[in-house]
Amino acid sequence: MAGKNVVLFGPPGAGKGTQAAKLRDFLSVPHISTGDMFRENIKNDTELGRTAKEYSNKGMLVPDEVTIAMVKDRLGRDDMKGGFLLDGFPRSVPQAEALDKILGELGIKLNHVVNIAVADQEVKDRLAKRASIEGRADDADPAVIENRLNTYKNQSEPCLTYYRPQNIVRDVDGIGTIDEVFSRVQAIFA
Ligand code: AMP
Repeated sequence: MAGKNVVLFGPPGAGKGTQAAKLRDFLSVPHISTGDMFRENIKNDTELGRTAKEYSNKGMLVPDEVTIAMVKDRLGRDDMKGGFLLDGFPRSVPQAEALDKILGELGIKLNHVVNIAVADQEVKDRLAKRASIEGRADDADPAVIENRLNTYKNQSEPCLTYYRPQNIVRDVDGIGTIDEVFSRVQAIFA
């Protein structure tokens, strides 16, 4: 099997979380979701959580220095040696650069950036639907959804341009059933 050091990438609403859970089980690697880490901190009302909430409620990225420090701390743990699945990080070019630096220091090479591609309108429809099912604060307000999409376009999508020259971007069509999309993801590791 090809290397298991993986970033899962895609716009909000692409189904990253769902695919991440399946891929984590398939690869047997730790799943590191910055969104989940922030939500956990928000739930526990930690200082980090209070900072994160200010931004995530508006559909904005939590500042890089906060996010990068949190990820660096997590990536330093021993359970990373057999691979990892990063979900929701990096989300800006400075974060991608920071990740390269952190991994370089650990002697780890990123193998795949799995890019789940979904068109804008489909993303909007999915986020609106998820709001009614999960009740996530950042999915509820159309203005916040719009902000999250703009944030993705302006800050996150350029990560793909950053990674393409490294030949590690694996584009996956995100339209289809969960299983259809997952079989495309699995094919990367065949
Ligand atoms: P997610 O569940 O991945 O959509 O993340 C929910 C929210 O957490 C995002 O809208 C951001 O406000 C914040 N967040 C998650 N990951 C990052 C990141 N890598 N950089 C900055 N903010 C993040």
